[in-house]
Amino acid sequence: MLNVRSVLVTGSNRGIGLELVRQLVGKSKGPEWVFATCRDPEGPRAQDLKNLAAKYRGVRILPMDTSDPSSIQAAATRVTEHLQGAGLNLLINNAAILRPSTLESETSEVMAEVYKTNVIGPMLVSQAFWPLLRKASQESSQKGMSCSKAAIVNVSSEGGSIATVYRWDLGHFINYRCSKAALNMLTRCQFLGYAEDGILCVALHPGWVQTDMGSSAGQAPLTVDASVGAALNTLGRLTEKDNGTFVNWEGAAVPW
Ligand code: NDP
Repeated sequence: MLNVRSVLVTGSNRGIGLELVRQLVGKSKGPEWVFATCRDPEGPRAQDLKNLAAKYRGVRILPMDTSDPSSIQAAATRVTEHLQGAGLNLLINNAAILRPSTLESETSEVMAEVYKTNVIGPMLVSQAFWPLLRKASQESSQKGMSCSKAAIVNVSSEGGSIATVYRWDLGHFINYRCSKAALNMLTRCQFLGYAEDGILCVALHPGWVQTDMGSSAGQAPLTVDASVGAALNTLGRLTEKDNGTFVNWEGAAVPW
């Protein structure tokens, strides 16, 4: 079972990110701190998150634009201050964008924009929060690896699976598929690089979910509630043997 003291979610003002925060704080033994980050906490798109944070003391809304290195650094500084010497247990790199495209219509500008958000973002965020994650691992008395101790969860997509090229019929989404394939490689690199720090690293496919992004591709079968509920259960079950894997919301292995 997931039993984290502190967790940070990127892109937490809507969709899967918002539901992650909602379900984390709704747990009977929820985290002490949930750092709910989004790019514009003062804007109208953060109103649902603000309403949620108003009900739970442990939720801290912080600005973080994952495509802006200085914004990432500023968030890391604030989280470090909040934690007062303690580590961060769980980092969920959730924020991402998708731009509809085909092989014919794809452009270098869009490819670069999506790569920056979906790949460089999680890389820089992980880099910035790595000292806190390592600290959480060092200060824990738990044996082995787990998401409750210290972990990076990269929210990926089976759309980036080279083996299945999930639902090509629904849309080509060249920028998105390529970015998620690269995020999967980043996950493997992090798995190798952060193993000695005791930080578990996984890529997570949340399913095809009814969010702004999911619904832009058609009739998504999964509610955000069902996807996130199952995904949190899955995260709670991950151990050392799952380190460096690509799993779906139910915990099944997804082919790279
Ligand atoms: P949504 O489009 O509903 O939400 C995306 C979130 O990411 C928003 O909160 C958005 O913030 C945020 N975001 C985008 N760019 C940035 C940025 N530069 N800095 C900070 N936040 C940013 O998507 P979902 O909730 O559906 O997707 C969440 C994750 O799940 C993504 O990684 C996605 O690829 C993955 N996924 C989703 C699937 C689905 O079917 N829905 C399927 C497979 C994977 P803002 O409001 O400011 O735009």
